[in-house]
Amino acid sequence: MVAEVLDGRACAESIENSLHGDITALAEKGIIPHLAVIIVGSDPASQVYVQAKEQACARLGIKSSKFELPGDTDWESVIGLVEELNDDTEVDGILVQSPLPNGMDELVISELINPEKDVDGFHPRNLGRLVQGRIDGLLPCTPYGVMRLLDWAGVDLVGKRAVVVGRSRIVGMPQALLLARKGADATVTVVHSRTLDIGDVCRSADILLAAVGSAAFIAPDWVKPGAIVVDVGVNRVEDPSAENGYRLAGDVHPDVSSVAGLLSPVPGGVGPMTIVMLMANTITAAKKRKTPI
Ligand code: NAP
Repeated sequence: MVAEVLDGRACAESIENSLHGDITALAEKGIIPHLAVIIVGSDPASQVYVQAKEQACARLGIKSSKFELPGDTDWESVIGLVEELNDDTEVDGILVQSPLPNGMDELVISELINPEKDVDGFHPRNLGRLVQGRIDGLLPCTPYGVMRLLDWAGVDLVGKRAVVVGRSRIVGMPQALLLARKGADATVTVVHSRTLDIGDVCRSADILLAAVGSAAFIAPDWVKPGAIVVDVGVNRVEDPSAENGYRLAGDVHPDVSSVAGLLSPVPGGVGPMTIVMLMANTITAAKKRKTPI
């Protein structure tokens, strides 16, 4: 069996096309959504991610402002900038690119951003809504993107066994909540670094989602034949034959493609979905903030 490709690029493109209509409707009211991105330090991967976000904004006609701060910026200045952007009535979305330099607490930043401008969906108020089973807040972009991708591919989650490998605040946990909520109705197991017999747990999955941060972690014999496998991982693997000395690899071993029924590639799977969901969140935030009810 060779797995069908769960094509995040094609799905993201179709969602992006549909967002043009929202942008036009807002423009007719004189509203241009505005995303502010803060990047602290010069992490090369972060630079690439921020550039991709700026390019998506440009394609859609969303205004983007980038605030680049050196890695030795003091904490108070970062806090001060977030507060300034919170107070700026023109700005709809604020994103602080992860990772922050050592010693800067991302949880504090998540809590400081005005929840109405929290387009990453990491503020406790937005994550708390998810615990209540509500999806009317700003949803975390990656798990939200995975749900949209599964829906686009016609995957029926009701009653299915889903295993989420990883329990981070930004991917694994919100992913599990979205899969288990009423309306999605999967039966969810969360796997983490203290889980015993991970292979056995993964083999029980009709839908397996890997968000670990370890290249090729999910072995082919951990996957039920025909299962739907979503690879969230993005890992840099040394590759002397590649132009810049590395290539991107997912958390799922490439040979899983001969066992799974549907598999999202890396790159071209969850990555483009994360970016288009950020655009969708920015438009939602602009609509909520700037259009009178
Ligand atoms: P993270 O915060 O480091 O969390 C990793 C999770 O994996 C943790 O819950 C950890 O368990 C678990 N884990 C680590 N080693 C394990 C092991 N040996 N066995 C079982 N579980 C293990 O990472 P993250 O932010 O969730 O990101 C995960 C991956 O997704 C990374 O590769 C990241 O680059 C990628 N990512 C991609 C996108 C995208 O748009 N495509 C977006 C976000 C993240 P413990 O909790 O027990 O430590």
